[in-house]
Amino acid sequence: MSEIQFHNTLSGKTEPFVPLVPGEVRAYTCGPTVYDFAHIGNFRTFVFQDILRRYLKSRGYRVIQVMNLTDVDDRIIQKAAAAGASIREYTDKYIQAFLDDRAALNLEPPEYIARATEHIDDMVNLIQRLTARGFTYTSEGSTYFRISKFPAYGKLSRIDVAGMQTGARVDMDRYDKDNVRDFALWKAPKPGEHFWESAIGPGRPGWHIECSAMAMQYLGETMDIHSGGVDLTFPHHENEIAQSEAATGKPFAHYWLHAEHLLIGAEVMSKSKGNFSTLRELLAQGHKPSSVRFLLASVPYRRQLNFTPESLQGAASSVDRLRTFVSRLQTGKFPTGTSAAMAERATKAREEFERGLADDLNTAQALAAVFDLVRDVNIAIDRGEFLRGDAAPVLAALESFDAIFAVLHDDDAARLRTLGLGQDSAGPSDAAIDALVAERQAARKRRDFAASDRIRDQLAERGIILEDSRDGGVRWKRK
Ligand code: AMP
Ligand code: ZN
Repeated sequence: MSEIQFHNTLSGKTEPFVPLVPGEVRAYTCGPTVYDFAHIGNFRTFVFQDILRRYLKSRGYRVIQVMNLTDVDDRIIQKAAAAGASIREYTDKYIQAFLDDRAALNLEPPEYIARATEHIDDMVNLIQRLTARGFTYTSEGSTYFRISKFPAYGKLSRIDVAGMQTGARVDMDRYDKDNVRDFALWKAPKPGEHFWESAIGPGRPGWHIECSAMAMQYLGETMDIHSGGVDLTFPHHENEIAQSEAATGKPFAHYWLHAEHLLIGAEVMSKSKGNFSTLRELLAQGHKPSSVRFLLASVPYRRQLNFTPESLQGAASSVDRLRTFVSRLQTGKFPTGTSAAMAERATKAREEFERGLADDLNTAQALAAVFDLVRDVNIAIDRGEFLRGDAAPVLAALESFDAIFAVLHDDDAARLRTLGLGQDSAGPSDAAIDALVAERQAARKRRDFAASDRIRDQLAERGIILEDSRDGGVRWKRK
């Protein structure tokens, strides 16, 4: 078996992967901020993390993966207040949607899913530890991390802190490299904002401390792999390293893996730009969950992925080709016998597949190995050279492929139904329409008219007309 190599953002190099405890991998995944539906850019990163865990499992490691849900941050507080909902009520809905979307994309559940608001005490404890070691100061009821006390600050993202104005602070959770600042660990509540009483005063945690506290809670002070999308490198992961290593004096994570962005046009898909598609939107347009998964997995994670409708069609035909091939092997009538050459061909494909993934999860190379096998076997079948006994090794090779890519089993219809999006000849079911109408009503209630219009358009594409009544209600009919 090839040695596993990962590109480590921390060293800037591709390195052999050696876990802390032999046979075990402890990994932390920065999860979503649950103020809206996740978009397929987000899912690009989550699919990469799923490929990573499935691959490590296939290599015999016991994987302990923790994913957080950021269910309190600046935007959640604003949006929940605008919707007149508690933080809990507001985020519950998006957490459920996120978990349903993950299931539709065949993402394996991490061993632990940790909600930030359920770990406030852990965060307060960590801040107190930092204070005891002299890394914090307070100002107007908020607690900040003093980055000048942590000389290694910048080692992950390689930002230059030299010109930084000592004592300059930032309260926002998200900011850019031009704003390298002492950042908020604990924020004093603004009037009317939700807050927690704590030993360090009333307030709420900053985004960065959430991940440090939860990661250490479940994985210990040093873990093997920490991952997320490239946009998290600075400031989020840089700040996580500073807080965690300042508190413990130990390395926080040995390997930092970052997925490149999914682009649409030439731009990064993002909520703030409004240029995003949710999984549900694509599925409602008739795309299959397996096509989305395949597309997101097929481009190696360190390459940008340019999303187009054509690429999604291409992914659908690739999945079809593989499924058709499997059924040809399972149901075809082949002459009796076994050929050593075909068993060797299957072994070679498995080795190439494995070599691709071992090389920093080069999924494109791994897929090329599979499609070469499919082509060669199809040629052998057409020539009558493929024998009945040859099917088993080829199917076994495909099974090991599918342990990672997870697209061969034709269960798209069932996955769509679980999202209330079943497509049958009669069009969407009444229940599915009611669910979308309810979602649109909720969007209108929180004055998210872009989302409400999107849902109306989606329904229109599927032949459903909405009639808004004066009293704020809505009726629907089929065209
Ligand atoms: P957020 O909910 O914004 O914290 O994002 C959740 C995950 O999605 C993080 O790992 C982000 O880095 C990642 N992400 C956000 N936008 C994109 C994108 N366009 N392509 C790939 N990953 C993304
Ligand atoms: Zn995080």
